[in-house]
Amino acid sequence: MKFASRLVQFDSAPGDPFHPIATPIYQTATFAQDDVDHPGEYGYSRSGNPTRAVLERQIASLENGERGFCFSSGMAAITTVTRLLHTGDEILADTDLYGGTCRLFGILPERTGIQVRYADACDPERFAQQLGPNTKLVYVESPTNPLFRIVDLRRMAAIAHGHGALLCVDNSTMSPYLQNPLDLGIDIVLHSATKYLSGHHDVTAGAIVVKDAALASQIHFVQNSEGTALGPFDCFLLLRGMKTLKLRMDCQQRNAETVARFLCGDKRVQHVYYPGLKDSCGYDLQCRQARGAGSVLSFTTGSVPLSKAIAAATRLFHITVSFGSISSSISLPGRMSHASVPAEQLRLRNLPPDLLRISMGIEDEEDLIADLDQALSVASQAAVST
Ligand code: PLP
Repeated sequence: MKFASRLVQFDSAPGDPFHPIATPIYQTATFAQDDVDHPGEYGYSRSGNPTRAVLERQIASLENGERGFCFSSGMAAITTVTRLLHTGDEILADTDLYGGTCRLFGILPERTGIQVRYADACDPERFAQQLGPNTKLVYVESPTNPLFRIVDLRRMAAIAHGHGALLCVDNSTMSPYLQNPLDLGIDIVLHSATKYLSGHHDVTAGAIVVKDAALASQIHFVQNSEGTALGPFDCFLLLRGMKTLKLRMDCQQRNAETVARFLCGDKRVQHVYYPGLKDSCGYDLQCRQARGAGSVLSFTTGSVPLSKAIAAATRLFHITVSFGSISSSISLPGRMSHASVPAEQLRLRNLPPDLLRISMGIEDEEDLIADLDQALSVASQAAVST
């Protein structure tokens, strides 16, 4: 089946005698056994729950993996990946990562003895030189957020594997609709499911998908031991949201392409970062490893006060840290989602302080452009008169 069909055609309630089309919410912590010697398929929801099982199978299928795991947040999923390592092991991560991931990686050396180093994954040769004898995990996002740089995922897999390390890709900015890292040879694909998979600003969730059975059993062990799995009601919401993933993303991506073109042609804007622009540096690579550029883009204005004024003057774009939802949003990553990145690392990654990130929703493109146009005018006039 094609992707659009797979989003809605799956066994939503295995074994249920009533054959519901929507997956029931098994809002129970425990399941009774027939007798003390014979545990049933489910015993305790931390270890397994039928609503979560349907969701995890569906996410695994959409990512072309074997096993999926859903967590209470994207950060819980990332934490789980770090648990695959031991004291003395090292993570080599790309320099351009989500701020919360950097915050988590920042406490690992002191709390766990796992070392973390950063290198530019968009320069594979130099990145490869940075791998050390203890590097056990390579960790990247692609496109990166919020600069939308493209990492060559096939090449990165070869580099990591040549060194005996695992490669984990945070696929949150793409979703399984636009990119399937496991097909490119990656070991672990991870999502903040709070973003496109949910798509409605109403669930905080994370997901991991792998192909390898041994890796899957380690991840299940950590998920069960640490109790980080997603609750049944949130699983239900995520299952519901995912059914419209293609419809939403097609519309959001169209809006992003139109808005990117509008911003590129506007003199009040300095630079637009969007991998769907033919002259963006990662365009060809993105075409080779993904099926679209997504619906988040960034731009600079040359001045932090001007960028702040633009965010304040928009009427349709909510000022929010997240992205990927049906309603459009705007943020200043340097002050918001990436404020937790240590100053030294911010310098390494060259994050412009005036960078505005916008996430396109499903509103009408004319309304969105008119709103950005008026916000740019209001903010520019205010800047001139002060
Ligand atoms: N990965 C990326 C790329 C993100 O943008 C975020 C959050 O914004 C996360 C991971 C963390 O996910 P969550 O907020 O669901 O914990």
